[in-house]
Amino acid sequence: MPTNAYPTQITPHFSYRELTRSETARRHGIDNTPNPDELANLIYTAQQLEKVRAYLNDKYQKPIAIIVTSCYRSERVNKLVGGSPTSAHRFGLAADCDATGFISSDFAKEILQMRDKGLIAFDQLILEFPERGDGAWVHIGFKKDGIGQRNQVLTAIKKGSKTVYLQGLQGE
Ligand SMILES: [Zn+2]
Repeated sequence: MPTNAYPTQITPHFSYRELTRSETARRHGIDNTPNPDELANLIYTAQQLEKVRAYLNDKYQKPIAIIVTSCYRSERVNKLVGGSPTSAHRFGLAADCDATGFISSDFAKEILQMRDKGLIAFDQLILEFPERGDGAWVHIGFKKDGIGQRNQVLTAIKKGSKTVYLQGLQGE
């Protein structure tokens, strides 16, 4: 499928551009276009993000946006950012995101509440670097079509130059 046949919107509230943009790709002038399989994964991921958005909007009765800072990464982009070759981002199955008006740890807790109510399932939810305050974010990753997901909840923190993963939500 040629790129120009790709949709502008992946789902009503998540655009193709938002889920494929990459500062690294832009800076290096390289392509970050998903193949059709990866596009199908992006649709799955966006559908899950729509569920989170709808849950928060309904719960708080006000417009709350989910802001995606990184989602799809082509092989080259993934290499350049030092991502694992098996990173869910590589396949369009993960989003780094936050919700407007929420600190990342509270946003992560909302997603866990959804999980506990049976409203969403994920492979990995990672609270990334809560010690950075506004520089933190939530990584949510899925398995293709939601099959075989681990329901793993982790917190990533920096210990010196190393990233350490702790079980559960930590460091609030
Ligand atoms: Zn991520």
